[in-house]
Amino acid sequence: MPDALDTLRALAGAFTTHPEPTTMSSDPTDHTSPDALADLEAFLCRRFKAHVTEKGDSTIMRGVAAAFGVASMLGVGVPSSADFLTRFATTLGPVVFLPSGMPKGKRRTMLLLHEIGHVEGFWSEPLFYPRAYLQSGEKRAGFEAQAERGRIEGAFLLFGDLPTADAVRAFMEHGYACDAPDITLAQQLLDIAATAAASGVVSSPVGLAVRDWRLARERGQR
Ligand SMILES: [Zn+2]
Repeated sequence: MPDALDTLRALAGAFTTHPEPTTMSSDPTDHTSPDALADLEAFLCRRFKAHVTEKGDSTIMRGVAAAFGVASMLGVGVPSSADFLTRFATTLGPVVFLPSGMPKGKRRTMLLLHEIGHVEGFWSEPLFYPRAYLQSGEKRAGFEAQAERGRIEGAFLLFGDLPTADAVRAFMEHGYACDAPDITLAQQLLDIAATAAASGVVSSPVGLAVRDWRLARERGQR
């Protein structure tokens, strides 16, 4: 199995660009400037063996999907509409595709905090995760809730933001094709996550990574 994983990692590297680490001369109190957030992106990509690229070329998306055996996650081919290419992030295996031309900054980070959670899930069970995501609405709702928990925790640690009740409710309602009980469970998990984050409890791998990154910056180690 390690050989197969190494091959997958090499393929991911071949298909995508890897963010360069930014300069070390950072302000230890700055966690939210575009440069700080770019440094966080590099940190998260290294920790979770994630690769971030743009959606500009759907041929690359097809290639990545084929290489990682997750082609069916794209459904019947990659949509090529401008809407798909410019509005949504998509994660295939370890590769996060962001909307084209998205500058560094808060909006990009908010997308990444969620998508990197899917990369973490993929590497934890590379053979199981994509299949379970596709085949089980219950699993899909759970994976989405886990990825969203990372975003909630990260957003609170970075920006002090917590999702509104409406945002939690709206989260599962855009196209995950889950049944009502699974959606309700995911929403309850996220309500708990938001409450926990507000009282300083961080438990998701992505949330913990954001906290580690902040501490490293405050100590002048980044
Ligand atoms: Zn997701």
